[in-house]
Amino acid sequence: MEANQILYMNGGDGETSYAKNSLIQKEVILKAKSILEESVVRLSLSSFPKCVKLADLGCSSGPNTLSLVWEIMDIIYATCQRVNHKAPMFQVFLNDLPGNDFNTIFRSLPSFYEKLKKEKGSEFEPCFIAGMPGTFYGRLFPDCFLHFVYSSNSLQWRSQVPEGLVGESGVPLNKGNIHIAKTSPHHVLKAYSDLFEKDFTLFLRSRSQEMVPGGQMVLVMLGSTRKADSSSNQSCSIWELLGFALNDMVLEGKVEEAKLDWFNLPFYAPTIEEAKAVIQTEGTSFNIHRFETFEVAWDCNMDEYMSNKGYSFEEAGRGKYVAMTMRVVAESMLVGHFGEEIMDDLFERFSSKIEEYLEVEEAKHTIITISMTKNV
Ligand code: SAH
Repeated sequence: MEANQILYMNGGDGETSYAKNSLIQKEVILKAKSILEESVVRLSLSSFPKCVKLADLGCSSGPNTLSLVWEIMDIIYATCQRVNHKAPMFQVFLNDLPGNDFNTIFRSLPSFYEKLKKEKGSEFEPCFIAGMPGTFYGRLFPDCFLHFVYSSNSLQWRSQVPEGLVGESGVPLNKGNIHIAKTSPHHVLKAYSDLFEKDFTLFLRSRSQEMVPGGQMVLVMLGSTRKADSSSNQSCSIWELLGFALNDMVLEGKVEEAKLDWFNLPFYAPTIEEAKAVIQTEGTSFNIHRFETFEVAWDCNMDEYMSNKGYSFEEAGRGKYVAMTMRVVAESMLVGHFGEEIMDDLFERFSSKIEEYLEVEEAKHTIITISMTKNV
């Protein structure tokens, strides 16, 4: 099953929307800001085009989408001021899969342009923002077109559920799990890992054709600290907990066992070595400047979330918060397979599992950041 048929973050701006529940991703973007700054400055100083063409790949829909565009433009404006150069125009392409809620972003564009004009005043140069629906595992732009490419919190999504999860006689190989879990056979890990290699290679190849020489790219994605060839991995265990909740529902007859056996997520967070190996194998297209990792707690920015909603810690709990951050990401795929009716029950159970887990573990997501220049 191709991801573009089943994967999209919850749209709109309601209680269970990505827009209202993307504070973890916001933290990731914040922590990667210095790398972003460095790359934007590198771009400004090297080529300084009259119109900067930039793309945000996997933009989703919500406050993170336009705040990122703002951030990049802000750094360029500041750099221009420092070197006494006129600010460029901007053409910004917001990319995501076709099911993404582009309409919500488009509706917020007039106020974004207004704010830009007001804050940048006389420095203001026109900025043109467009949507570019399609998969980033393939071509999205003409040859030699983009000056700056950014992608955050998106490259851990695979182009599809790996095909190798079905045995020769047609049996599901990852029975009882929805992703790589401690009980998954080695085949499962290999199928996911191979697909990452294929997807990321295609991603880099496509960008190397689309970017101008000297163009800059910053990639921020979920990674894993898993040891090579081992399926035990903290950053995956959040999906393992969701799998446990589904298994409980199977035992209670609320979910069919076969349904669970046939469901797997199109998600794989690579190890640092895997990500590096793909870039190196891809060849000489890119020159890597930084390749780093950092961590964010599963429950980071919970206080901000609570105060936005007027909740207190006791009322909502960490489990509920973390479960909601995952619900807005995974719900589209789960509803498509298991049906809408079980969602509230499932996420209630998931939040209890997370709550119990966080009592004994200090759980964190591992984030990989990479900055690169397109070679001549
Ligand atoms: N960049 C935003 C949103 C991250 S959510 C942030 O940091 O907050 C991840 C997004 O990646 C989702 O909107 C999802 O639809 C998108 N995505 C996943 N696979 C994709 C693909 N192959 N091509 C384009 N977008 C993809």
